[in-house]
Amino acid sequence: MSRPKAVAVIGAGLAGIAAASYLAKPGYQVHVFEKNNGPGGRVRQFQSQGFTFDMGPSWYWMPDILEQYFRDLGRSRGDYYSLEPLDPAYRVYFSRGEVLELPRDWGQLLTTFESIEPGAGAALDAYLEDASRKYRLAMGKFVQKPSLTAREYLRFDLLKAFWELNLLTPISRHIRRFFHDPRLIQILEFPTLLLGATPTKTPALYSLMNYADMVLGTWYPQGGIGKVSESMYALSLELGVTYSFDAEVDQINVDRGCVAGLTINGERIPADVIIANGDYHHIETHLLDTQHRSYTEAYWESRILSPSSLIFYVGVGKSLLSLGHHNLFFDTEFDPHATAIYDEPRWPEEPQFYVSCTSKSDVAVAPPGAETLFILIPVAPDLEDSKETRKRYYEQVLDRLERITGEAIREYVVFNRSYAHTEFKRDYHAYKGNAYGLASTLRQTAFLRPKVKSRRVRNLYYTGQLTVPGPGMPPALISGKIAAELVEKEVKDE
Ligand SMILES: Cc1cc2nc3c(=O)[nH]c(=O)nc-3n(C[C@H](O)[C@H](O)[C@H](O)COP(=O)(O)OP(=O)(O)OC[C@H]3O[C@@H](n4cnc5c(N)ncnc54)[C@H](O)[C@@H]3O)c2cc1C
Repeated sequence: MSRPKAVAVIGAGLAGIAAASYLAKPGYQVHVFEKNNGPGGRVRQFQSQGFTFDMGPSWYWMPDILEQYFRDLGRSRGDYYSLEPLDPAYRVYFSRGEVLELPRDWGQLLTTFESIEPGAGAALDAYLEDASRKYRLAMGKFVQKPSLTAREYLRFDLLKAFWELNLLTPISRHIRRFFHDPRLIQILEFPTLLLGATPTKTPALYSLMNYADMVLGTWYPQGGIGKVSESMYALSLELGVTYSFDAEVDQINVDRGCVAGLTINGERIPADVIIANGDYHHIETHLLDTQHRSYTEAYWESRILSPSSLIFYVGVGKSLLSLGHHNLFFDTEFDPHATAIYDEPRWPEEPQFYVSCTSKSDVAVAPPGAETLFILIPVAPDLEDSKETRKRYYEQVLDRLERITGEAIREYVVFNRSYAHTEFKRDYHAYKGNAYGLASTLRQTAFLRPKVKSRRVRNLYYTGQLTVPGPGMPPALISGKIAAELVEKEVKDE
């Protein structure tokens, strides 16, 4: 059989675009089928009344991974969008009106920590030295692996590195070895929440996220995070990738255990290889017959999903003087909120929340004198998200925002749209309405995550936040690369 050339990708999320691009570069014919009317998946934008809203991600971290992506494909990130460091990186609101800003400057950061807890400056230095080692080890040796079996890790240097990565220590305990002040602990635990699990369930390996946060910095692409997907899409077109939008794949066709193609609206489209970027659970349970699925429903039920989110996209017709670009509202206790997400799934009473105000760094995303707000409350997946519930949280968050910032906001709101489980399911077929895939717990890391390659169907691969390496934009790019490299390696000799 000659080398298969027709690759179909299901889904134009970042991982799908990345996989398509990495395969188009060496000459594969790659066509992407996307159910929505444009590319980007969770990294899309919408415009209304002069406001531009990023629909999903707002934290641009690990710029090195994104730079590498463009370099891998023979381009430079700077050809597509400009990137600015944010200083301060973010602002944290604690109870009793206390506000802390995280400066970009290293010396100032140490001074800030020291001012809160004597000795915490030196502790931060030591903590981040360890975190930087983890970042280099993880990025250099682990994160690019397909993780098909544990055998990939059975080398002396990797086993030794595994030990150094503190996989068996929860990050909550690791942080408390260095710091005691609850505010510093909250700041250091916050990035793990982006990985979808509580700090008590997240391995200390992920202190590498603190390195990403505090050393590599928080950045902002002018025009918004949507520039990332827009640019990746533009680059993929330059490489020859083709797309069909409003093209929902209904079935993956299998012939004698091997991919034969896919079906859209009754039309059968042949393909030699399929890379599925859509929600893994959806692809398996809706697009494949039972005998072709790698995982049972019981397996999926036993997985710990990342939280879902209740999001409000709010346009405010005046300048808000007291907000920064990224604002974390830790004015209530996290433990009851975490219990409501992970242990006894229900709507939380007084959740912590996050506000991104991109118009602080970008005049193009709001009308003059106005602000673009993205308000996010992490909540358990699989909840019922009625209009009344959304309204209740909208009122609560605005009450708290107004009280904490001391500014009138509600009466200046000119645009308001909410987004939660219902939309995650409708837009992405997200399993239980998850926002960012599977949580990065120890039992859901590396070769313990759903595999990038089907166990049952030859030439069927998976990419994206439910497989390796995990949730987030940089991991999505790496996931696309892993899937593409596996396709290249496994199908080229057929
Ligand atoms: C609210 C929110 C906040 C986040 N914040 C951050 C952040 O600050 N920083 C960060 O780095 N990351 C963040 N993330 C995570 C990041 O956005 C995701 O991990 C990443 O974008 C996932 O990309 P993906 O390609 O795996 O999946 P997706 O973006 O979900 O792409 C999958 C695509 O497949 C399509 N699809 C599904 N089924 C079918 C079908 N049958 N036929 C055709 N197409 C189909 C979907 O429509 C979708 O476009 C956030 C995510 C959310 C939701």
